[in-house]
Amino acid sequence: LIREKPGSNFHFFSPDILTTWKNTFNMEFSLRKALKGNQFELHYQPQKDIKSGNIVGCEALLRWKHPDKGYIPPDRFIPLAEKNGMMIELGEWVLREACRQNKKWHSTGTYRGLIGVNLSARQLHQPELAEKIKNILEETGLSAEYLELEITESAAISQNNEVLNSLKQLRELGVHVSIDDFGTGYSSLKYLSIFPISKLKIDKLFMKQEVQNNQAIVKSIITMSHSMEMKVIAEGVETEEQLVFLEKENCDEVQGYYFYKPLPLQEASELFLQAQ
Ligand code: C2E
Ligand code: MG
Ligand code: MG
Ligand code: MG
Repeated sequence: LIREKPGSNFHFFSPDILTTWKNTFNMEFSLRKALKGNQFELHYQPQKDIKSGNIVGCEALLRWKHPDKGYIPPDRFIPLAEKNGMMIELGEWVLREACRQNKKWHSTGTYRGLIGVNLSARQLHQPELAEKIKNILEETGLSAEYLELEITESAAISQNNEVLNSLKQLRELGVHVSIDDFGTGYSSLKYLSIFPISKLKIDKLFMKQEVQNNQAIVKSIITMSHSMEMKVIAEGVETEEQLVFLEKENCDEVQGYYFYKPLPLQEASELFLQAQ
């Protein structure tokens, strides 16, 4: 943003900034319309148990199916929804939809695993989070043990005890909590001994074996998880070499393009049926 003359009301934007501003403005408007117009959908990425090869979980990933622009990835609209406060509403839609779908799979015998749902920082800091999730579980009929909430280290940081209290209540209900993108957030290890965490998700960044120390980091995370009685899953597994390494190091579960991409509902349901 450049002001040509001091005191002048004319602001000159570079074309880039202008485009960004317009898109952001339009996007906020479209986001509200999209939620009303059922333009959001969930895709599901299966997670495998390394030893048995069984699909034991899947992660629900939000997609915006824009009528003109096609699928818009979450990284393009979630930060905005988080800023304008819409992420609470959108996140509740995700939770309800994921629980409803998993209950349906369980009832029809299509799938018996858990469903992972990502929580944003704002959602996590709602004082009534546990109550809301309890209601969603009751409403959809899904048992708490089949829901896993994915939180990031950065989102969990808090000066007060609100987040800790919510997580404790959720754990008492039987809901699982995992740390997403583990190893990339600005945080300390202290919360691992305080928060009731059932699983660490090693960030895909550390799968790059050619980067020095990545293998040592992965090994350490696996050892630490197990000695703290947590499970550990590797995200972003794309090659056989990565799988072989993770197997050797006793990683519990894997998720990544090497096995499956996030699948639309129909494809996920078909895969689950076949995989039984
Ligand atoms: P995440 O929770 O860490 O999800 C994993 C991301 O990695 C997904 O991207 C997934 O498609 C991608 N991925 C999976 N396997 C591979 C692989 O082998 N290689 C590579 N390069 N990528 C892989 P996606 O779906 O674009 O989601 C991006 C992020 O958006 C998610 O990261 C999560 O932080 C956020 N997100 C997605 N859905 C939701 C949601 O419903 N609520 C919230 N708050 N955040 C969400
Ligand atoms: Mg996640
Ligand atoms: Mg992740
Ligand atoms: Mg991520």
